Amino acid sequence: MFSTAFLDIPALQGASGTVTLPGSKSISNRVLLLSALCEGTTVVHDLLDSDDTRVMLAALRQLGCGVEVAGTTVTITGLGGRAWPTEAIEFFMGNAGTAMRPLTAALAVQGGDFTLKGVPRMHERPIGDLVDALRELGCAIDYLGNEGYPPLRVRQPSLQLDKPIPVRGDVSSQFLTALLMALPLAAQDRAITIEVVGELISKPYIEITLNLLARYGIQVERLGWERFVIPAGSRYQSPGTIHVEADASSASYFIALGAITKGDGIRIQGVGADSIQGDIRFMDAAEQMGAKITSGPNWLEIKRGAWPLKGITLDCNHIPDAAMTLAVMALYADGPTTLRNIASWRVKETDRIAAIAIESRKLGATVEEGPDWITIHPLPANQWQRASIHTYDDHRVAMCFSLAAFNADQVPVRIEDPKCVAKTFPDYFEALFSVAHTAAANIPVICIDGPTASGKGTLASRVAAQLGYHYLDSGALYRVTAHAALQAGLTLEATDEAAIAKLARSLPVRFEGEQVLLSNVDVTDAIRSEQGGMNASKVSVLPAVRDALVDLQHSFQRLPGLLADGRDMGTVIFPKAPLKVFLTASAAKRAERRHKQLISKGFSANIDALRADLEARDARDMSRSVAPLKPAQDALQLDNSSLTIEASVEQVMVWWQSRQVFGFPT
Ligand code: C5P
Repeated sequence: MFSTAFLDIPALQGASGTVTLPGSKSISNRVLLLSALCEGTTVVHDLLDSDDTRVMLAALRQLGCGVEVAGTTVTITGLGGRAWPTEAIEFFMGNAGTAMRPLTAALAVQGGDFTLKGVPRMHERPIGDLVDALRELGCAIDYLGNEGYPPLRVRQPSLQLDKPIPVRGDVSSQFLTALLMALPLAAQDRAITIEVVGELISKPYIEITLNLLARYGIQVERLGWERFVIPAGSRYQSPGTIHVEADASSASYFIALGAITKGDGIRIQGVGADSIQGDIRFMDAAEQMGAKITSGPNWLEIKRGAWPLKGITLDCNHIPDAAMTLAVMALYADGPTTLRNIASWRVKETDRIAAIAIESRKLGATVEEGPDWITIHPLPANQWQRASIHTYDDHRVAMCFSLAAFNADQVPVRIEDPKCVAKTFPDYFEALFSVAHTAAANIPVICIDGPTASGKGTLASRVAAQLGYHYLDSGALYRVTAHAALQAGLTLEATDEAAIAKLARSLPVRFEGEQVLLSNVDVTDAIRSEQGGMNASKVSVLPAVRDALVDLQHSFQRLPGLLADGRDMGTVIFPKAPLKVFLTASAAKRAERRHKQLISKGFSANIDALRADLEARDARDMSRSVAPLKPAQDALQLDNSSLTIEASVEQVMVWWQSRQVFGFPT
């Protein structure tokens, strides 16, 4: 996940390949609650790991459910037939609407002493219609803050279930979903009728609810979209095992991607055209705009059809969430696109109509908006602007606008607070970058070269973390090469140069966080020793070995960018890098740091011997005939002898911003 302050997406040129999508948020949280309410144990496969599901799981644990998490499989032992908690419990619901609404209803129907709170935005999201409906049937719920909004306090109800329960359908379908999931708890000896007041929005989400209720043994009778009857004697039964379908609205970004980009197309794994989720109908809208889509039971394949895309006018009531993706596709169309019947956008994570309008305008688009509609005009070539997209803590705003990076003018896009995608799709950007491609020249590289123990590794990995970039520790490649050579019985001398180079050319090396694996064996400690450094320095003077490692080093230049540290990153491997830093520190300082490092790891070390070693290694690195250690002509020198690591990071970030590689307005 990108947890950086912002993510700079370079101009992208195409996309192809397969993405496997995570489980649906709506299905995940419904399944969790239903599994908690029934008797027995349910094994839930492919559960989404996200903020919303974590909130729900935490709440279920507080209620006393058995919850065992193993990767994306979660085993829930339900509360059905067990003692319902009698002690006061306070639940923190974050900004998770899919947890807040149904849980409130279930708690209110069962009764107890519960408080439900959330983040400030949650306290601005209306819940009054659900509370009104619950009060109508005798639930005891108080507002602890503003009337109509969380936080809430729930007490013991005195249920009156003989007359139909009215619930408003035109604000959020989650209210109806919440009632549908809560009322079977009270329908033991009588049928319960719910009556929808006003036009029901987001019907497909209700279909998901009904579908899942059926899987848990509750057959709701539906009379049009106005009346829902939960039969007498309803009782939750665990399905034993259940698979969560991938999120159809998450699929929308990759459907759009296939429609926008040239190439062999995009295959989406995890959801197909026969999905129980209404948002899958986004497919039809994308097809209207020009996408070519084929599908099987659990997959979709999308290719570009009409280009430019065709502007459309569409009533989006049936695909409220996925429809946001159409707004960005509209930028690539041949005429305006109008999305109608989207009043619910105004009360989502943020006011989504306003957000789309403001951010699209930053890109240069003309947008008109009304209370429940938006019109987006296409952005022709030569009119795209570099924009820093504000994301309003709204995952969909972030994901939508990442698609703007495929623009004709090849301007990059900055996404602020990219981690907000965690709400439904924590690895969205990783998935995007796994299929998107662009020219190497568009992928920025920052080089940090310098002598041994100058702190390059720490500096480079910290800057990489701040920018969300990949990190290449080229020294580790020389260290691993020397290690592999010695293991193969070779000497590190010129006589074995060809054999070492052959090894280096297909080095089975893998980096996993701090760990370095050679043929799946962890060699981290072995190569990080002083001797490992000396050995690396020996093989690194051999020209054929250096040559053999070039392709491997270039392969680290991947989206969205790279921090590379070593001796010749700026001079030889990435000579066109837009920022090159040459990091130095006095020999005394470097010896002192290395000494501290070794002691802290429990090694014994002598500071004078260390200094002599460092100097010997530097001398060899500087005097060798190929790629000797020296600053690139255009490198900026940073002597960090008396700087903290934070100050060095700050300095590199300042230089990076001042290079204006992407040139976003601030
Ligand atoms: O940076 P590190 O100490 O891990 O590097 C080990 C050795 O590998 C260096 O002393 C240097 O001889 C060699 N090296 C190199 N070119 C690089 C990185 C490291 O020659 N780009």
